[in-house]
Amino acid sequence: MFSLTFDDGPGPDTEALLDVLRAHAARATFFLIGRNLEQAPWCGDPARAAQTAARAFAEGHVLGNHTYSHLRPDRWRELAADIRRGEAAVRSIAGPQTRVPFRLPYGVRSFPGGFPLGNIGEDLDPRLAVVASLGLSHQHWTSDFDDWTLPPEAAPALAQAMIAHVARCEAAGLDAVLDLHDSGTGSSSGYSRKATVAGVRQFLQEADRRGWRSFTV
Ligand SMILES: [Zn+2]
Repeated sequence: MFSLTFDDGPGPDTEALLDVLRAHAARATFFLIGRNLEQAPWCGDPARAAQTAARAFAEGHVLGNHTYSHLRPDRWRELAADIRRGEAAVRSIAGPQTRVPFRLPYGVRSFPGGFPLGNIGEDLDPRLAVVASLGLSHQHWTSDFDDWTLPPEAAPALAQAMIAHVARCEAAGLDAVLDLHDSGTGSSSGYSRKATVAGVRQFLQEADRRGWRSFTV
């Protein structure tokens, strides 16, 4: 089995991605950035952003929290407030009862000096302590694909990398958790993720052929 997880949304290609997932009856997990939901700098239309997230939720996908502002790891002292704000944004769509999984921006990093307020293990990311203090855990992945850097024509290569990864996990007795991106933070890579949408479509065609099934985290 495989889990498609999409970070940094919503964005301009999220609706197209939802179309692809629906065509294959695949369910995914969307780790939303609160700012992309509530302020929607990618389109200037917060109502559209809310509508996109609400559609994902209504179609059976899980909405997760990827913080409000996607702060850099060294700003861990501001992280707790940003996690709470991000969760409130997600819950404005998902409601109070649903479980909202959490994923750290940039994933877990090595961090020389560790956590200055206590001992969490040598050179571990101090954001792990912040996440623990909130009673949360970080949902990591079995592979990242650098998909946010890819031009649209790289979609077949992305799909092949995803297929190869799931096959390697399967051979090792593991389900795969794939880290992908349906939007961004407004950096040099912009917000559009055409390679991801097309790559996921091609991946799901092959997954159907092989009898692989999706799960949410
Ligand atoms: Zn991210």
